[in-house]
Amino acid sequence: MRGHLNPGIKEVTIIGGGVAGLMAAEALLRAGVRVTIYEASSRLGGMISTQITPFGIAEGAAHSFRTGEAIMALCKRLNINVAEGLTRKKFIYRYQKMRQFPLTIPEVFALARSSLFHRAQKAGTLKAWAQNHVGAGAQQALFTPLSQGIFGTAPGNLFQPLAFPGLTLPAGRTLVAHLFCRKRQAPKARMYMAAPVEGMGALTEALAQFVTGHPHATVVLNHAVKKLPKAKNIILSAPAAVAAKLLAEASPQTSKALAKVQSVPLVAVTAFFSGVKAPAGIGVLMAEGQDIAANGVLFNSAALPARLSPQAEEKGLVSLTFMYGGSAAKRMLKAEAEIKNQVEKDAHTLFGPAAKAQALYPACWREALPQYDENLAQALSMADKDWCHGQGRVLYGNYTGDISLRGLAEGAAKLAQPFYQ
Ligand SMILES: Cc1cc2nc3c(=O)[nH]c(=O)nc-3n(C[C@H](O)[C@H](O)[C@H](O)COP(=O)(O)OP(=O)(O)OC[C@H]3O[C@@H](n4cnc5c(N)ncnc54)[C@H](O)[C@@H]3O)c2cc1C
Repeated sequence: MRGHLNPGIKEVTIIGGGVAGLMAAEALLRAGVRVTIYEASSRLGGMISTQITPFGIAEGAAHSFRTGEAIMALCKRLNINVAEGLTRKKFIYRYQKMRQFPLTIPEVFALARSSLFHRAQKAGTLKAWAQNHVGAGAQQALFTPLSQGIFGTAPGNLFQPLAFPGLTLPAGRTLVAHLFCRKRQAPKARMYMAAPVEGMGALTEALAQFVTGHPHATVVLNHAVKKLPKAKNIILSAPAAVAAKLLAEASPQTSKALAKVQSVPLVAVTAFFSGVKAPAGIGVLMAEGQDIAANGVLFNSAALPARLSPQAEEKGLVSLTFMYGGSAAKRMLKAEAEIKNQVEKDAHTLFGPAAKAQALYPACWREALPQYDENLAQALSMADKDWCHGQGRVLYGNYTGDISLRGLAEGAAKLAQPFYQ
C-alpha cells in the first residue's frame, strides 16, 4: 500500500473490486466511511474464485494464505470457517526425487562459508543476493524454488529489497551476524498456512456480500474507469497497467514509471488424479534446471481438509494443482491442448506412470502477478514522491509491496486506522 487517505473526509472512491479493493472497502465501511467501488467486470473478487466441481474444490488463483493478525481478524469478522493446513512438510524436486533437504554436503559447506564470511553488497537481484550469502547450490535448490513458488518467476528477475525486504542486510554485515542480531529482538508470532474450508471464494464472496449490503456503500459493476475521478479520497486498486493509464494526466511521471511494470503470466491447473500417492506435505517446488515444466505442485488433498468431494474420496483420487509460469505458461496460453499433455507428463515424472488425470480445471492468467523487479521498485519510489505524496491518494494492490493476501489484509487495516483516531 502506498500513500494515505485523508481522515477529515469520510468518503472514499475505490477503483477495482478484486480482493484488495474489497478488503479496503470492508475496513473503511467498518470505520464509518462511505465507499464507492467501481469494478470493470460483472463480479467482485478479481482473480480469486472457487469452483465447486463434481470432484472437489478448484481454485482460480490463491489457494491458501499465511496467517497473520489482520487476515485472521478479517475472516473472524466475516464468520469464515478457516482451517489450518494438515501438514507443514514441503519438498524440493532435485536429482529425480522429491526431497525435504535438497542440498549436497559440499553445498552445505559452501552455504556455511558464504553466510559466515560474505558481506552485504549493493542491492540487486535475489539471485545475486543468494549466490553471495548462501552460495550457488543453495540458490539453485532453495531460492529458485522459493521465488518461482511465490512470484512465478526466476530469482534473477526479482529485485531482492522489494521482493524479500526481510533479507536486506545492513552494509558490510554477513548473513549469520544479521540473523544473530535479529534473534535477540522480540520473537514474531507463529505463522502457518490456512484457508477457508469452502475455498478462497468464500472469502471474496463474504467480502462482496458485506460491501454490497452495506447502507454506506455504492457498488458499480461493469464499469471500467477510464478517467481518474475527481474524488478527495481515492484508492487505485486495479492492476499497475490500469493505474498507469489513469494517472497519465494527473501524474505523468508516476504513470510513465508504472507503465514499465511487467507482469508474469501464470497457468494454475487443478487436476484430480488416480494412481497417485502424494506424500503428506503441502507440495513440491522445483530446483533450477529440472526436467519438469511446472514451477510447483500443491498437494491440495494432503495439505488442506475438505478439498475432495465424497465421490472423489471414495474413488481414492487426489487433488493436485500444477503451477506454470514463464515460457511454459506462455506456451499453454497459446495452445490449450498443451495443458493436459504437460500436466500428465509432469505427473508421470513426479509420481510414476500410473498417474492418470480424471479431470482438469485450468485457470489461465496472461497477466497474473506484477514482476517484483527494479522497474517496479522505481515506479513505487516515484509514486511515493509524486502522486501518493500528500493525503487522499493511495495505490493499493498486489503490485504495491506484497502479493499475498496476508499483506493485502494488513494494508487494508492500515488504510482504515486514521479514521478511528
Ligand atoms: C495462480 C495464482 C496463485 C496464487 N496463490 C496465492 C496464494 O496461495 N496465497 C496468496 O496469498 N496469494 C496468492 N496469489 C496472489 C493473490 O491471489 C493476488 O495477489 C490477489 O488476488 C490480487 O488481488 P488484487 O485485488 O490486487 O488484484 P485483482 O484480483 O487483479 O483485482 C483487480 C480488479 O480490478 C478490476 N479492474 C481492472 N481495471 C479496472 C478499471 N479500469 N476500472 C475498474 N476496475 C478495474 C479488475 O476487473 C479486477 O477485479 C496467487 C495468484 C495467482 C494468479
